[in-house]
Amino acid sequence: MSIIDMHIHTKYSWCSYTEIHELLSNLSLLNIDGIVITDHDEINGAKIAQKYAQEKYDVKVFLGIEVSTLEGHLLAYGIEEKLPLGLRAIDAINEIRNKGGVVVAPHPFRNALTSLGDMVYTLGNTLDGIEINAMDSRTAKDQARSAAQQLDLAMIGGSDAHCLKSVGRSATKFEIYVETIDDIVDAIRKKQCQPYVSF
Ligand SMILES: [Zn+2]
Ligand SMILES: [Zn+2]
Repeated sequence: MSIIDMHIHTKYSWCSYTEIHELLSNLSLLNIDGIVITDHDEINGAKIAQKYAQEKYDVKVFLGIEVSTLEGHLLAYGIEEKLPLGLRAIDAINEIRNKGGVVVAPHPFRNALTSLGDMVYTLGNTLDGIEINAMDSRTAKDQARSAAQQLDLAMIGGSDAHCLKSVGRSATKFEIYVETIDDIVDAIRKKQCQPYVSF
């Protein structure tokens, strides 16, 4: 079993100031086995963190991307390149999946332009999963759970941490021991994961 926080921002996202070294040195204090860094349309923060993690810290860091589309954000796992800005959600989804990745709708029912909202029902099983986001209201979390159940999609948990104190507030419990990003991708496809809230 592994517990991974699937949605974390660093200062490589325009909206976060989190320094990579601070992030990594704090991880050992938390009850999680690893993190996925999912900066907005950016992968350099995750790459640098993976390098530091290998050199200095005994923590697992995986690379993900939070992709901005015309209709809202998507989380992509299992691809290592950025997507062009300004894509429609369905086109971004197809591109991510064609490259071998999986796609999760983050904070789908947060009251924000960056959320897909009811469009998750239209996208249906072109998505692989729905996120239960620690930053969302109880109602938005309940709506996300209900959408995942109705659409029979994987459910993951992520903190959407933009600062250190939020890291690990929600995470995903994988039935398998997660060693690589491919393990994560595979487990999401097989729906062998569930949202986990540590406190
Ligand atoms: Zn977002
Ligand atoms: Zn985010």
